[in-house]
Amino acid sequence: MNKDLFVAVTFDTDSDIFEGADVASNPFSPLPWKGISDGIPLLYEHTHSIVDSYGSPLIFTWLVRADNQIKRIHDSSTFLLEEYNHIWKFAIHRGDEIGWHPHLYKLDDNLWVQETCDATNTRILMSTFEDLKKIDTLPISARVGETYCSNAIIDTFEKLGVMCDSSAMPGRSRKFKGGGVSWINAPSRPYTPSYTDYSKPCSQSRSILEVPLSMVPIKAPYDEDFYQRYVDLTFYHKFLENGLKKLVKESDLIVTISHPNTLLKRKLLRHGLLSFDIKEFIKNLNVIISECNKNGRNFRFISLKNCCHLFKNYVNS
Ligand SMILES: [Zn+2]
Repeated sequence: MNKDLFVAVTFDTDSDIFEGADVASNPFSPLPWKGISDGIPLLYEHTHSIVDSYGSPLIFTWLVRADNQIKRIHDSSTFLLEEYNHIWKFAIHRGDEIGWHPHLYKLDDNLWVQETCDATNTRILMSTFEDLKKIDTLPISARVGETYCSNAIIDTFEKLGVMCDSSAMPGRSRKFKGGGVSWINAPSRPYTPSYTDYSKPCSQSRSILEVPLSMVPIKAPYDEDFYQRYVDLTFYHKFLENGLKKLVKESDLIVTISHPNTLLKRKLLRHGLLSFDIKEFIKNLNVIISECNKNGRNFRFISLKNCCHLFKNYVNS
């Protein structure tokens, strides 16, 4: 394979996991966001000299939480875009993309759970989008929290002008109370989603493209066997290395997903798969770079929205 390898390094800006908010006992407790305030500057500090085969810098796609849960907890669905405006301004200035990461939750017995009602999810997306418009943010790319999806969500995104959804996790499915999501048969390459099944390609022309997450087999210490997982560059290098090497050989697009809060060191926290160490992130990124060099392939850093023209009608043509 001689074609260029496109690499989209994306982040979902979720709140800090495993610590901080006492959301379980009080669903309205403020969420902690050290990942954004400290993790993102740390990432820039450690990656500023990384360039692709054409000398262009490593760019990121930041999918920023904006939804009904953020609105209930922080009084504004666009809280993160406003509170950390200086970070997003800097990001845009350097060529990063700011996309949208809505978690579609509802309160059930004082717990936040996945909303599975199409009509409600459509309403949440439409009203949040109105809030985004008020601060002049018109996202081109989106990823739904919990990699949830439905035909109604794709239709709504398309109506709102979102041109790239990157929620697909090929080979995986998940059940929720009242419904579920299935990416079992989703292609691993970008595709135009069918009107009747978001996980399948269609030959009709649509303005929205589904850009699946890259998946690799990983056996974490707590797994009995290998398991298809998304490529999170903050996973320990030893679990990701072989999968990354294979992807470089066989793909022409790698889409990674990480969370800024897992770049930050934790004193008391140990996790089998997540390193909480920026050095592991760099090591994993360097595998992609060195394998490209070894295999004589050029690689190009892109943001998710670039996929719209690079991979339009890719599967269907
Ligand atoms: Zn999320």
